[in-house]
Parts: sequence; C-alpha cells; structure tokens
Amino acid sequence: MDTSEDFSQYIRWREENGKTICLECGAEMLYFREGHCCGLKCTKCENGIATTAPIVTDPTAYAVALKPSNRSAVGNVRLIANIAGVNWLQAKKLIESAPSEIFRGQALKVQGIKNQLEAAGIKYKIEPEFPY
Ligand SMILES: [Zn+2]
Repeated sequence: MDTSEDFSQYIRWREENGKTICLECGAEMLYFREGHCCGLKCTKCENGIATTAPIVTDPTAYAVALKPSNRSAVGNVRLIANIAGVNWLQAKKLIESAPSEIFRGQALKVQGIKNQLEAAGIKYKIEPEFPY
C-alpha cells in the first residue's frame, strides 16, 4: 500500500484554532472510526474521506514543533496562530522561542499542517518521525 498518498489532494481542509475546518463549506470536520475504517468527514457537507489507509488509521500522536530561525513575519504569525489555536502574541512568542510545539495529534491532521507549513516556507520538525 502506498503510505505516501497525499489526501489533501482530494479532500480540502485546514487546521484552525485546534479544529479541522472544511474548505468547501467552513464547517468543522471530525475524525471518526467505524470498525476497521477511519476517516475525516464534514459535519455539514459531503466533503470527507473514509479509508483504511495507514495515515488515517495510525493511532500515533505526532508532535509538530517549529525550528529556530523562522521569521515572525505577519503571514507566518497568522498561520501559526491558526494552527496552534492561539492569539497573535502567543503565536509570535512560539516562533521566537522555538523550538516550540504548535500541534499534537493524528497523522492526517498533521499532514494538513505539514502542507500549510511547507507552503509558507516555515521550518518545522515532527516527532516521532512522520512516515507520510
Ligand atoms: Zn463541508
């Protein structure tokens, strides 16, 4: 099975204030488990995924931490505030006092955050090692 599959290509979501937000309708998306199948689904619309893929069934809580040397530019602070669910000042502090943890959670959510951080050019690390 391909463990490097990028689910963000066909479900659209982002992490905001500790919640997973549907980019189709803006409602919260919830992680669910039904038998051997797990997924992420929107509480309002049809956006979502149900799969037995490892990234979705992986029970590990991954920690996402900022590396030192990120600039506390406006866009970066806004993104970190959204991901970590903190206010502007706290987000700025997280960047300036790095290494600092900004998120801990399920692999699929971590993948979404990873994509957001990479798109913004922010340096981070994930522990334990993120295999996706
Ligand atoms: Zn939705």
